[in-house]
Amino acid sequence: MTDCLFCRVVAGEIPATIVFQDDAVVAFKDITPQAPMHVLVIPRRHIGTLNELTTSDDALVGRLVRTAASIADEHGHAASGYRTVFNCNADAGQTVFHIHLHLLAGRRLGWPPG
Ligand code: AMP
Ligand code: ZN
Repeated sequence: MTDCLFCRVVAGEIPATIVFQDDAVVAFKDITPQAPMHVLVIPRRHIGTLNELTTSDDALVGRLVRTAASIADEHGHAASGYRTVFNCNADAGQTVFHIHLHLLAGRRLGWPPG
């Protein structure tokens, strides 16, 4: 048992609507979607924030990004567009301290973000 919410999602202890998983990555629907498509792509391994990444994680981060792009494409958003976001720590509003790549699509997304 771990205190980390997303480690518990990975372990199947907390239900989630999983849209993709492989040996390194799990992608599931955000519980409070901010767009018609809002998926979180996470590593199975616990990493608290982007600040903890090392060069040995470069391939893993690439897999997170490519997984998001692949899911967006599968759902017909590749041409129209989508946004991917990692929030890091308080000023970015990070609330779950297991890194996650937000994938948002299906509506026009404003810029700059709030
Ligand atoms: P962040 O603010 O970048 O840390 O994003 C955390 C995200 O996790 C938010 O968009 C939440 O809606 C989402 N979230 C929190 N708990 C769950 C859960 N049990 N299942 C799916 N998404 C969740
Ligand atoms: Zn974790």
